[in-house]
This record gives sequence, C-alpha cells and structure tokens, in this order.
Amino acid sequence: MPRKKSDDFVPHPRYGDEPRLTGLNPKENSGTGKVYLHWHSPSEVRVPNTAIAADTSRQLQPTIAVTHYFDSRRRCVDCRDSFLFFAAEQKYWYEVLGFPLESNCVRCVPCRKKQRGLETQRQRYEDLFALEDRTANQDIELVESALTLVAAGMFGTRTLERMRSLLKQAEPHRKLEGLWRRLREIEEASR
Ligand SMILES: [Zn+2]
Repeated sequence: MPRKKSDDFVPHPRYGDEPRLTGLNPKENSGTGKVYLHWHSPSEVRVPNTAIAADTSRQLQPTIAVTHYFDSRRRCVDCRDSFLFFAAEQKYWYEVLGFPLESNCVRCVPCRKKQRGLETQRQRYEDLFALEDRTANQDIELVESALTLVAAGMFGTRTLERMRSLLKQAEPHRKLEGLWRRLREIEEASR
C-alpha cells in the first residue's frame, strides 16, 4: 500500500496536490516596481516560482492591493493535514467571488465541505428547535442533528442532557433505539 509522505498535500479537486510552477517569482521591495504580496502568506509559506499576477482593480476595496498571488502552504485547522492554498484559487476568491483580502483559507477542501454540511445541519436544528409543536418525526430529526453536532464538537455535551429528556418523552419510533445507543456512545466518548 502506498505510504503517505509527510510532505504530501491534501488534493484539491480543481488544482491538484502539488505546486503549479509558473516561473514567476516577484520579490517585495525588489526595486523593479511595486510588488505587494498577501500578508496571509509570508515568505516561509510561499512556494517559489508559483506566482501569478493579480488584477488589483477586481479586489474588493483593499487598503493595500495585492499584486501577485503565490501557491502557499497551509495546515488545516481541523484535520492538521498540509494543503496548498493555490495562487489561482486566491485569484478566484479575491477577484471572482469577491471575498475581501482579509479572508484567509484555513481548512483543506474536505474539511471545508464537512463544515458546510454541519452549518446546514445546525440551521436545521435551530429551525426545528424553534417550532412550538413538533411532530414525532421532527423530534427524531432534531435529536439526530443535535447528536451529529455534538459529535463534531460544534455543540457542547450539555445538549446531550436536553436530547436525553426529549428522547424520554418521545413517541414510539423505529429510530428511537438507535438514537439512544448513539447518545450513549457520544457520552462515553466525551468523558
Ligand atoms: Zn482538513
């Protein structure tokens, strides 16, 4: 089985898993004109010779416009794996999607996807929680969401107590037994 090298990068579905060399390597204060590089990517994380030129007119009201983007090494705040925040991806973020230059990329793509899924889950939880009357199915769905969010560390374990009392009052349901089991597992794991 191929072993994962310690310097491997988490693959990006669009840009791949290795730096994209462009041969462009502008330096700040090189005296050849104004070069401003992104403060989120200091020299120690920039991959040399991967720069692409920015279109500063498309950046969102920058205090200081960034003139070039470099492929930059990052460590994911969630899974701690290494990944690349690609120059082309930065250009896309700051010039096409309209993200401000302040926004930084701190998660690898799989963790970004997971986080988006959890955000949806949390929204669903809050919508259900706000209902005055929930059907039996909605109660079940509420508990399912809550357990997922606790397991992912987005909700604290206090939520489990609330879910425990909800399950005690719940009407008979084919999923009840499984939810009790899952709740106990999460409780065990969080001790
Ligand atoms: Zn990650």
